[in-house]
Amino acid sequence: MKLDSYWLDTAPEFRDGAQGPVEGHSDVVVIGGGFTGLSAALELATRRVSVTLLEAGRIAGQASGRNGGQCNTGVAQDFAALAASVGLEQARGFYRAYESAVQTVEAIVTQHRIDCDFVRCGKLKLAAKPKHFDKLARTYEVLHREVDQDIELIEPARTRSEVGSDAFHGGLLQRNGAQMHMGKFGVGLAQSAARHGARIFENAAVTRTKRMDGGRYEITSTRGVIRADKVLVATGPSRQGPLQWFQQRMAPVGSFIVVTEPLSQTRLDALFPHRRNYVTSLNIGNYFRVTPDNRLLWGGRARFAMSDPRSDAKSGQVLQANLARYFPELHGTRIDYCWGGLVDMTVDRLPRAGQHDGLYYSMGYSGHGVQMSTHMGRVMADVMEGRAGANPWRALPWPPVPAHAARRWMLPLVGAYYRIQDILH
Ligand SMILES: Cc1cc2nc3c(=O)[nH]c(=O)nc-3n(C[C@H](O)[C@H](O)[C@H](O)COP(=O)(O)OP(=O)(O)OC[C@H]3O[C@@H](n4cnc5c(N)ncnc54)[C@H](O)[C@@H]3O)c2cc1C
Repeated sequence: MKLDSYWLDTAPEFRDGAQGPVEGHSDVVVIGGGFTGLSAALELATRRVSVTLLEAGRIAGQASGRNGGQCNTGVAQDFAALAASVGLEQARGFYRAYESAVQTVEAIVTQHRIDCDFVRCGKLKLAAKPKHFDKLARTYEVLHREVDQDIELIEPARTRSEVGSDAFHGGLLQRNGAQMHMGKFGVGLAQSAARHGARIFENAAVTRTKRMDGGRYEITSTRGVIRADKVLVATGPSRQGPLQWFQQRMAPVGSFIVVTEPLSQTRLDALFPHRRNYVTSLNIGNYFRVTPDNRLLWGGRARFAMSDPRSDAKSGQVLQANLARYFPELHGTRIDYCWGGLVDMTVDRLPRAGQHDGLYYSMGYSGHGVQMSTHMGRVMADVMEGRAGANPWRALPWPPVPAHAARRWMLPLVGAYYRIQDILH
């Protein structure tokens, strides 16, 4: 078993990285080479803006290349609760922003001919307990009435037509969800951006940002110093570098994934006939899908812990055991990959994007970031050109996370709380 991301291990190499030191001047410097930063660099480069991207490690090496591979429509939280908190009109706007985000991913894939196995497959949320179906049915009613007619309620009796397991009790299908190979997409974005003139530096961690007289910036990285008129911070939940203001506003949460050996077509047809994106209805639930080469990717919050190789391996064992509980036929199936990553959680699970102290930023996608990070890269190109109204998240305040919620030692307690909620409800 490799303790590595399947997406990164099976992605082509990015060969068009900039050589030599980081130096000179760019109209825009983007900090971070995940989907937010890469998509912004691509969009700016196609608009003939000079852009330099500085990535601390490898392109898409963090959340963007370590996720569950789902590119879904729909907000991260219950729509009715969201509408109660921000108002129906704004909740509709947020929901539709996710639809636009999936469209943006598809448009980029098509326009730049990125070979990344993009396919519209739908997302199915499965009721993990009989009573969870009632909640899904209520969600269906609200969504169907207020914002999305392209959804379907799968009655418990029809579950087996969707998934080969007796552990589920109906589900809610959002038809417009998509999936793709995350590593191929990340490298494809980077190559397209480089082809249009973006300079992309890997292994160039930013250690200092300084505002100069006249509003320009001086950005210091481990590969040199560059000046820029504008800076986009696209560092996800990263704890490294000089960007504490952003770090204080998110709680990075570990999430873990295992990928099986390739499974036979017959077995996959029996278990996952429509090859959708699947999530379960528990607080500490699972997400899963089939990879382009017929493996099952099975993820979840397994343990409330941060991600490092030891922690990932422990979480992998938990995931393997609960995979066999939901799909007994897969007991004993070999696990070929196991890894973890940090999810960029905000307190209300809504993204944040805008400008702080002159620096532009977009992050905090709270586990629903594949589509939104890509979309926001494009949106931030508009915002940097003076169209702030393009940003759907512009009106949201962003106070720091209360200190206790960010502390690592609290994580197991938070985990225990949600596990108890899952047992009781
Ligand atoms: C295990 C897991 C599963 C997930 N599953 C899904 C899913 O199925 N569907 C979904 O929609 N979302 C999912 N997500 C969330 C999604 O992957 C992220 O929201 C999205 O990829 C964020 O992209 P980003 O570009 O903003 O951040 P990242 O991909 O984290 O990129 C930020 C980059 O900035 C770089 N960086 C940080 N600090 C510096 C610095 N000082 N200098 C230079 N570079 C720096 C980092 O190295 C990193 O490459 C998942 C996340 C995880 C961790």
